[in-house]
Amino acid sequence: MPLYRLAFLLAVPLALLPGVRARPDISPKPEDLVYTQKGTLPVIVSAPHGGGKAVPGVAERRGVGIKLFTTARDGNTAELARTFAAELEKELGGKPWVVVARFDRKYIDANRPPDGAYEAEAAKPYYDAYHDPLTAACKAVREAYGGGLLLDVHGQGALPDVICRGTRNGTTVKLLKDRHGWRAVTGKNSVMGRLERAGYKVMPACDAGEDAREEVRFAGGHIVNTYGSHTGYAIDAIQVEVGTKYRDRDTYAKTARDLAAAVAAFHDEYLKK
Ligand SMILES: [Zn+2]
Repeated sequence: MPLYRLAFLLAVPLALLPGVRARPDISPKPEDLVYTQKGTLPVIVSAPHGGGKAVPGVAERRGVGIKLFTTARDGNTAELARTFAAELEKELGGKPWVVVARFDRKYIDANRPPDGAYEAEAAKPYYDAYHDPLTAACKAVREAYGGGLLLDVHGQGALPDVICRGTRNGTTVKLLKDRHGWRAVTGKNSVMGRLERAGYKVMPACDAGEDAREEVRFAGGHIVNTYGSHTGYAIDAIQVEVGTKYRDRDTYAKTARDLAAAVAAFHDEYLKK
């Protein structure tokens, strides 16, 4: 047998042996560490702090010189946001837009401007993998509907039995206020009003009026401040800070359902074309 044929016969079974072929690269790509869904409704849900995955080649953040530095995870908010999206689809028969971080806040904080969000250049594509689809969702909703609602879902432990509203005291819902007045932010068919009527304690309370200030720690971060309707996006943005009691393993699904019912009612009152 000529030598080249022998070599060929040996090479074929060798290539089939595990470990002989080059291993595929299994490290997650930026788009693998952010869950996204394209929508059909004028509703966008974002959850930047519920992920638990490491970012390849990126060390944990140290926060040197960063004000209000934290790496705490908002437990079960990724699950809450995705369950909310599924429940809203059942309610309205269309899909909301969804952007949910799978990466851990220890590596990237998507609710901060880039200079405070990550410390290694290798993290930038993952940060962008969060904000690019969020930006695209806001633009698509604005073009299709001329306005919409963005809920930025978070968790807080300081007020465990409260859901706090963050709109920078009305700034990030400017369009909603201009079109429908303050009742669209706190009235009985507002998102927070519906939650209150469903038995949740909300802050500010819905009968507290326009002057009631939002809890300063939860009044609204980078996401609502970037995409809110005081900017060019025309999307009314509310940071929803869910207390621990409403988002533990046994309660988050009910909270998601009740939030979906609240947003469906809001949609029918204020967002329907
Ligand atoms: Zn958060």
